[in-house]
Amino acid sequence: MSNQSGVLYVVATPIGNLEDITGRARRLLAEVDLIAAEDTRHSRKLLQHLGVDTPMCAYHDHNEHAAATGIVKKIMQGGDVALISDAGTPLIHDPGYELVKQAHQLGIKVVPVPGASAVITALSVSGLPTDRFVFEGFLPEKQMARRRRLQDLARQSRTLVFYEAPHRILSFMQDSVAAFGADRRACLARELSKYYETVRNDTLAKLCQCLHSEQIPCKGEFVIVVQGNTKVQGPEEQEAVRILKILLQAGPLKQAAALTAEITGLKKNELYKLALDLKEK
Ligand code: SAM
Repeated sequence: MSNQSGVLYVVATPIGNLEDITGRARRLLAEVDLIAAEDTRHSRKLLQHLGVDTPMCAYHDHNEHAAATGIVKKIMQGGDVALISDAGTPLIHDPGYELVKQAHQLGIKVVPVPGASAVITALSVSGLPTDRFVFEGFLPEKQMARRRRLQDLARQSRTLVFYEAPHRILSFMQDSVAAFGADRRACLARELSKYYETVRNDTLAKLCQCLHSEQIPCKGEFVIVVQGNTKVQGPEEQEAVRILKILLQAGPLKQAAALTAEITGLKKNELYKLALDLKEK
């Protein structure tokens, strides 16, 4: 890296309430040479609100590779660049991965400027365990694929966090009831930090009903936090876990699941999912 090289700042912006911009983010956005924004028109409103007139360039999913190359070139020549997305923390279900990756490859200093992100904001008020969680982001749009993913997550003991679009929120919740059971607790976090902010912790069935009756409107932005699987395992499953743990130390996951199925008589695909969960723990 040359001594002249600049810095890439990854700057979080508000997820709704503009007061949530940090003092450091505001200062850096004014000081850098260039702001790489997911949508320059969208971000111009934020920058106008902040009284910042730093030049911007577009950095989004469709030009990620080429734009990243141009931006790192500018940084290598000594320019400081701030990466922002439309809302919240860049790269958290937003563009930026290619840019940060290329910056690291070239030895450019990458500095986080932390702030809001919907996943952490929702978790913090969900009333569900936060010590261990899995961020699943958006599930596939196609219903079959989405149902399969939810089914695969049914045994997961960690708290699950999802993003979902308003037009799919009801079917997402209905599919969650089918996969996780009506009594599983969850939290719907809607329009966080905005005027119509709603945070409701209840069973999946009750939350589904609230959406269906429009007590909670299917409008705006949603984060869904679902409690992990807390069901106590029966003796058969406990034995299968014991065997799986031993076999996972000795060989590949698929083989461990197949051998455990032979020993216990339990279903191979169920044991495969169980083995995946054990590996992740
Ligand atoms: N980078 C953002 C972050 O750090 O959270 C996420 C961007 S992602 C493209 C947009 C999704 O995040 C929305 O569809 C919604 O699921 C969630 N989200 C963003 N802002 C939100 C808010 N104020 N309230 C609830 N969910 C929000």
